Amino acid sequence: MASGKINVAVENIFPLIKKFLYSDHEIFLRELVSNATDATLKLKHLANIGEANVTYDNPQIEIKIDKDNRTLHVTDQGLGMTMEEVNKYINELAFSGAEEFINQYKDSAKDSGIIGHFGLGFYSAFMVSEKVEIITKSHKDAPAAHWTCDGSPEYTLVEHDKTARGTEIILHIDSDSDEFLEETRIRELLTKYNKFMPIPIKFGTREETHEEGEGDDKKEIKETVDDIINNPTPAWTKKPSELKDENYTSFYRELYPMQFEEPLFHIHLNVDYPFALTGILYFPKLNNDLNIQKDRIQLYQNQVFVTDNVEGIVPEFLTMLRGVIDSPDIPLNVSRSYLQADGAVKKISNYITKKVADKLQSIFKNERENLEQKWNDIKMVIEYGMLSEEKFYDKAKKFNLFPTTDGTFLTLDELKEQTKEAQTDKDEKLIQLYAANAEEQHAYIQAAKDKGYTVLLLDSPIVGHLLQKLEQEDDKLGFVRVDADHIDKLIAKDEPQLSKLSDDEKETLKPLIEGVVPKEKYTVQLEAMDSEAAPFMITQPEFMRRMKEMQQTGGGGMFGGGFPEMYQLVVNVNHPLVSQILETKTKKKQERLIKQSLDLARLSQSLLKGEELTAFIKRSFDMIK
Ligand code: ADP
Ligand code: MG
Repeated sequence: MASGKINVAVENIFPLIKKFLYSDHEIFLRELVSNATDATLKLKHLANIGEANVTYDNPQIEIKIDKDNRTLHVTDQGLGMTMEEVNKYINELAFSGAEEFINQYKDSAKDSGIIGHFGLGFYSAFMVSEKVEIITKSHKDAPAAHWTCDGSPEYTLVEHDKTARGTEIILHIDSDSDEFLEETRIRELLTKYNKFMPIPIKFGTREETHEEGEGDDKKEIKETVDDIINNPTPAWTKKPSELKDENYTSFYRELYPMQFEEPLFHIHLNVDYPFALTGILYFPKLNNDLNIQKDRIQLYQNQVFVTDNVEGIVPEFLTMLRGVIDSPDIPLNVSRSYLQADGAVKKISNYITKKVADKLQSIFKNERENLEQKWNDIKMVIEYGMLSEEKFYDKAKKFNLFPTTDGTFLTLDELKEQTKEAQTDKDEKLIQLYAANAEEQHAYIQAAKDKGYTVLLLDSPIVGHLLQKLEQEDDKLGFVRVDADHIDKLIAKDEPQLSKLSDDEKETLKPLIEGVVPKEKYTVQLEAMDSEAAPFMITQPEFMRRMKEMQQTGGGGMFGGGFPEMYQLVVNVNHPLVSQILETKTKKKQERLIKQSLDLARLSQSLLKGEELTAFIKRSFDMIK
């Protein structure tokens, strides 16, 4: 029997490991399964190059709980270790690795985000165990070894009679880590970290039923089979040419079993120079609420789950996507802020952005209808990308679509072309009319359509920022919402209408109306429009409204706190009702007409609510009874 004292400067390393890694105890299992996988893959490699004389058929890794003895077992059929190797790799290497880790992270241990990503390796087993045993039989012709260590720097190493090749790690679970003796907890961990590891992982057995025979002879056969936790060959490890659309969809299900909606598009990432990265990204159906985003992109390192926080690795606008990224080249043992400055990570982020842009470009080119159909579900990602990544903006400008209120979709170039054709003065600004809500702004949309204009339907909460950017880039381009002013003033086309009221009459009318409508909210503006146009109409200047909206979605506001709620009340002096107001003799009647007209105008802008709406309805009933 051999025993010895592990040569570490830190007298008792185990309490330290426990203390520093408190929040990340669960990673021990990931580490042990990773080692078992490494050992199996190494053996495969040796067998392939003829350096190990073994048959390598379907090796497994098995995880077992022995509740009575309070042990957890991780067993592999990998290359195993000889006594000398245990000495070298466990007593010396693994310990020095652990010690180095402690020294390096002692002071930053509270920054636990880092630690979980940093494999402490074999020694993380001591975070949950009072004693750890290794029983291992090398593929070489040498006796098996049995190593035991109880958490002090002393260990024992003796021969063992194990004959099957491979390694069994036995953890004697500590009394404060009982959770790791629970089947559900272990299953949860295996599913979280090892779901896509390359060697099959067995965790117990399960019943499987299948039918056998034909017709009357048909019977159900019950069978007990190994319960394999993982899919060793997930879709992202395969070549895109080997996969069909349905393979991508079923992999999405595998990743997000609780997601019932189908993904809209997928993008297969695959590069090995200047960095290695594979993965599949999916565009999910997004609604306009940026906050409900639960299933996130998962980051793997050689098929081992690392984290689902890809902030800093993937540009922010793409964190709205789902899927997997697998790269051995992402340095995760550093802080997030450092990560963002890292050259390799920057390249990875640029590559992903480019791939996403290229994919969308190709869908636009080859299956535009498909893109149009799904546009409203993905536009937020694209708008956000155009606002935050210059390179993406340059590409996306060509395929970014503008939906119209007629259900068609135009690119910016097509839009400009169309406006230009309709315009008599070719040097004039190209004004694009848009609405944000087809229902609420119906009257205004209708008025614009009646005059032959196309009205865009731009309803995403961040589109205002994008319009601003597009206008800044092209001073010939302007976007105005249909209710920003009377349509004839938004796009000056025809000759101005003549006023039916004299200047004197107008001077009487204005104060009359101003006396009734609340002046802190409305500025009254008299206009000569055609007599068919509404007599009273509420508008809000484009500039005002956009500043207010942009302030709500972050940035762009110059008025610090809340914006005043200000509107224009456009009064059509050519409408018969307006003449009638002027001609009405009694002050009371006049006021009532103005008030009722104002409320109708507010109603058509969805501005009449609550108590005022109730009063309006009561008054209207009184009028018609
Ligand atoms: P790393 O995996 O980063 O090398 P670990 O601390 O996890 O560090 O493991 C230390 C070493 O112990 C490994 O490099 C390997 O040589 C050996 N080892 C650990 N687990 C096994 C195992 N299941 N089979 C064979 N060798 C192992
Ligand atoms: Mg390891």
